[in-house]
Amino acid sequence: MSEPVVLVQKLVKRYGDLTAVDRISFQVDRGEIFGLLGPNGAGKTTTVECLEGLRIPDEGELRVLGERPSPTNYALKAKLGIQLQETAFLSRLTVEETLALFGRLYPRRRKVSELVELVALTEKRHSPVRDLSGGQRQRLAVALALVNDPELLILDEPTAGLDPQARRALWEVITQLKGEQKTVLLTTHYMEEAEALCDRVAILDHGRIIALGPPPELIAHHFQETPLEVELSAPAGEVDFSALPGVTRAVPDQERVVLYSTAPTDTIRAVSRLAEEGKLPLRDLVLRRPSLEDVYLLLTGRRIRE
Ligand code: ATP
Repeated sequence: MSEPVVLVQKLVKRYGDLTAVDRISFQVDRGEIFGLLGPNGAGKTTTVECLEGLRIPDEGELRVLGERPSPTNYALKAKLGIQLQETAFLSRLTVEETLALFGRLYPRRRKVSELVELVALTEKRHSPVRDLSGGQRQRLAVALALVNDPELLILDEPTAGLDPQARRALWEVITQLKGEQKTVLLTTHYMEEAEALCDRVAILDHGRIIALGPPPELIAHHFQETPLEVELSAPAGEVDFSALPGVTRAVPDQERVVLYSTAPTDTIRAVSRLAEEGKLPLRDLVLRRPSLEDVYLLLTGRRIRE
């Protein structure tokens, strides 16, 4: 086995009294797309900023491409491609000029024509950055992170705030990087994004890793059941959902209850009967496949909200 591209051992980072990252350990292997997944404030940005050498950890060991990151390790920085949560552009420059300008900062760089092609901005290469849509800007930010042909790409919330179509366009770009054998560490609070893109994920909550592994394995490990989303038009009152046939767990969430069932048809029948008898203000009932969202909900009792 070759050395991991990223190695994090018992990383701790505090801001005053707040422990933002609390003894987390994980590694990212070469060619992997690895996701740090968690709600706002879980500690994702702090973790990647420590790996980028932008923050100094309080405790723990970090290795990135075999080196120790630090604010002055410029040799390491030259081998990384970093997309921060927000990218400031020079709005009058065109896409091509922006990429050429940033390319000049590095001894090793990729061709601008190759970069615009990779992030699907070839048609926009002569447009000033100020005329780009939010999704196009984010793709340009990814292209900037690729300008030095890095061995490791770190993307912090690459699709935050994008509409579903723009998000999917960026997913395609990231998937293509996998074809180029790049190693990618990304953060996201979109469960379906982590499921669609990542070979492995670490789910972070309050600075701790609460689950780590390939999404299908995490899901299969926690769920033999089928989730049923029961939407209500008012609070459920006295109903004991966990006593319904097939139900192993019932997780209430405002005017909605998620029932995990080993016998979904029996459960659906029982829920419908309660509604017919006027005991349950049922609005909708949806059966779906278990997802990472369910793993998070099971482990924390909460949903990740945008
Ligand atoms: P987001 O997606 O919102 O950035 P995150 O998972 O990346 O969330 P962090 O930005 O790492 O989380 O923040 C973790 C915790 O540390 C939060 O409670 C945040 O308020 C706090 N925090 C982050 N940066 C600082 C700072 N410079 N000073 C004090 N507290 C901070």
